[in-house]
Amino acid sequence: MSLDRSTIWPYDERGEPREFYYARYGSPTVAEAEARLGALDGGTALLFPSGAGATTALVLSLLRPGDTVAVAAGCYFGTSVTFAALERWGLHDIEFDQTGPPPPDVQLVWLEAPSNPFLTMPDLAAAAAHPAPVVVDATVATPVHLRPLEHGADVVLHSATKYLAGHDDALLGAVVCRDSGAAEELRNFRSRTGIVAAADPAWLLLRGLHTLELRVRRQTETAITLAGRLRRHPKVETVRHPGIGGLLSFDVVDADAARRVETATRLIVNATSLGGVRSLIESRARWEGDRVPAGLLRLSAGLEDADALWADLAQALERA
Ligand code: PLP
Repeated sequence: MSLDRSTIWPYDERGEPREFYYARYGSPTVAEAEARLGALDGGTALLFPSGAGATTALVLSLLRPGDTVAVAAGCYFGTSVTFAALERWGLHDIEFDQTGPPPPDVQLVWLEAPSNPFLTMPDLAAAAAHPAPVVVDATVATPVHLRPLEHGADVVLHSATKYLAGHDDALLGAVVCRDSGAAEELRNFRSRTGIVAAADPAWLLLRGLHTLELRVRRQTETAITLAGRLRRHPKVETVRHPGIGGLLSFDVVDADAARRVETATRLIVNATSLGGVRSLIESRARWEGDRVPAGLLRLSAGLEDADALWADLAQALERA
C-alpha cells in the first residue's frame, strides 16, 4: 500500500464525490489500515490521532452530560486524566475492581486487558452481563492475545502508538466496534469533530501490522522469562505479569531504589511508553504518585535477546 498524503481527491466526471474527497471524512491509507485492524479484532475499526484522542472521541460520542463511566481501578493513568478533563462537561467516573462485576447504574463500563501497570485481567463475562456498553482497552494484550469482541465487549480501544505500530515512531489510536451501525455513528462524530488520524501514522501502522504477531509472541516469551527470573531475585518484592503480553511490573524497596535501577540500565532504555521493539523501563511513581507503590518499575520487553536483557537488569538491580 502506498502512502497517500492528499487531503483532497477530485470528484467524478459527473461532479459527484467519489469514495474519498476530503481527508477529514476519510482517506485511502487510513481506510486500508482500518480494514486490516478491523479484520484482526473482528469488528469495524476507526483510527484517531492518539489513544487518548480515541478515548475522548468515544466517550463524547457515546455519553451525555451526567452519565457515569465505571473505570477499572489501576488502569492506564492517562485514561483517568482524560476522564477528569471531561468532568466539567458533565462526565462522572467511578473506579471498580475489574476482576469482578461492574457497579450498577453506570452508562459505560471501561476495562483494560491487562491493566497498565498493575497487569490485572478483567472479568469479561461479568462485564458482558452488565446492561451498559463495555469498552476494553486491549492496548497491552493486542489482538494476538485477546479479541474482546468475541467475549461480549462492544468496543475495543487501542493505543496503536504501542504494539500495533510497534516502533515508537507513530502516535495513533484506534476504536474497533462490534456493531457496524455504532461504528458509523462514531465515524460521523469523528468527521464533525475532526478528531481523525493522518495518513503517515496510518501507514506506519500498516507496516507494523505485518510483524505484529511475531513481535508480540517474542515479547511475551521474553516477558515470561524476565518475570520468572525477577521473582527469584532477592531485591525484588512483587512481580506482576499475567502470562500474556510483553509488559510487566515489579517493585523494589522504595522510590530511591527504583530511580537507581532505572538509571543504571544500559540496554534497556529509561523512557516512558511500551510496546516498541526496544525494551523500556521506568518508575511509574514519577507520573502516578501514590496511586502506585513508590518502588514500582514498569518494564516493556522489546526484541533484544532475553539473556542480554536479564544481564542488564541484574546489574542494575545491584543498585537497588
Ligand atoms: N491506553 C493504554 C493502556 C496506554 O498505555 C496508553 C498510553 O500509554 C493509552 C491508552 C493512551 O494512548 P496514547 O499515548 O496513544 O494517547
